[in-house]
Amino acid sequence: MKRYIVFSFFFSIFLLTFILPYALGQSNSVVEQKRSELENIRSQIEEKRAILNQLKQQENSIIGQIDLIDANLDLKETELKDVNYRLNLLQQKIQDTNFQINYQRKVTQEKETQVANRLRSIYMMQELPFFDIILSMNNNVNDWFETFFIFERIASQDKEVLNQYNIAMENLNRLLKTQEEEKSKALELKNDLEQKKQEIVAQRNERQAILRNIMSNRASYEAAEAELQAKSQEIEAFLRSLSSSPRVGSGKFIWPASGPITSPFGPRFDPYLHVQSFHTGIDIGAEYGSPIVAADGGRVVYSGWYDGYGKAIIIDHGGGVSTLYAHASRLVAYVGENVRQGQVIGYVGDTGYATGPHLHFEIRINGKPVNPLLYLP
Ligand SMILES: [Zn+2]
Repeated sequence: MKRYIVFSFFFSIFLLTFILPYALGQSNSVVEQKRSELENIRSQIEEKRAILNQLKQQENSIIGQIDLIDANLDLKETELKDVNYRLNLLQQKIQDTNFQINYQRKVTQEKETQVANRLRSIYMMQELPFFDIILSMNNNVNDWFETFFIFERIASQDKEVLNQYNIAMENLNRLLKTQEEEKSKALELKNDLEQKKQEIVAQRNERQAILRNIMSNRASYEAAEAELQAKSQEIEAFLRSLSSSPRVGSGKFIWPASGPITSPFGPRFDPYLHVQSFHTGIDIGAEYGSPIVAADGGRVVYSGWYDGYGKAIIIDHGGGVSTLYAHASRLVAYVGENVRQGQVIGYVGDTGYATGPHLHFEIRINGKPVNPLLYLP
C-alpha cells in the first residue's frame, strides 16, 4: 500500500512536470494553427459578402440571377467551412478538458486515499489515550516538547492534505462545468452546420429551377445566349487591350481536363426552342471537382467571377494566344501568376450558365475564339 502511494505520488509529479504540459502544448499548437486558418476563412467570407452585395446592386439580367445564387452558394459553402472549423477547434478543446478531468480525478482519488489514511491513524491514536502517552513519558521537558511537536505536525499535515483534496475537487468541478459548456456549444454548432447544409440544398434547387425556366422558355433562352455573346465580346476587347508580348510556353497545347466532348465549338441550334447560338469553346464533360490544368504555360490575366462563365481563368500565352477555362468550382491560380503547362489552376464545377459540371474551354487568337480541336493533340 505504502509503495503504491509512493509510486502514485511520483507518477503524478511525473505527469504534472512532463506529460501534462507536453500534451496541452501539443494540442495548443494545433489549436493555434486552426485558429489562423479560421482567420483566413473569416476574411474570405468578408470578401464573398462584398462580391455578393456588388452583384445584388448590378444584376437584373437572366444570367445574373444564376450568378447571384452562385455567389450566395459560394458564401454559404465558405460559411459551412467556417462552422466546421469552429466545431473542430471546440472538439480539440473538449479533448483537452477530458485529459485534464482524468488527471484531476486521479489527483482527487490520491488525496482521498491520503485523507482516509490520516483519519485511520487519528482513530488509532484515540485508542491509545493521549494521557497514557504523556504519563508513560519520563519527566523530561524535551520529551514533552517532542510529543507536542509531533502532534502539531500531524495536525498541520492533516489540514494540508484536506486542503489539497478540496482544491483538487474544486478543479475537477470547474473542469466538469467547462466540459458541460463546451459540449452544449458543440451541439449548437452542429445544428448550425445542419442548417447551412439545408440552405445550400435549397439554393441548389432554386438554381436548377431558374436554369430549367431559362431552357424551357424561348425568350429567356435567347436573352441568356445574347448575354453570353456580349460577355464573349467583352473578353475579346479585354484580350486585345493587353500589351503584346512574345509567345511563351511550349507552343503546343495539352488537354486541360479529361472527359468526353459534350458540346463542340461553333454554331448551335436548339431544336426545341428554335434558337440559334454560337458556342465559343468546347465543353469537356469532366467530373465535379476534377482538376483543370493549364493547356500551356503563360501568365494568368483573369481569375474570378465572370457572369455566365462562372468562376473563370484566362491565361495569356503571349503572341496573341490565350486560353479560357470556365464554370470552375474553385480557382487556385491568381492574376499575375505565371503558370506552367499542366499546372492545376482550378477544379471543375457548374458555376455560371451551366446545367451540370463540365469545363468550358476556349482558345483565342487575338481575342477571337477559334476551334480548340484544331490545336489540341
Ligand atoms: Zn461551353
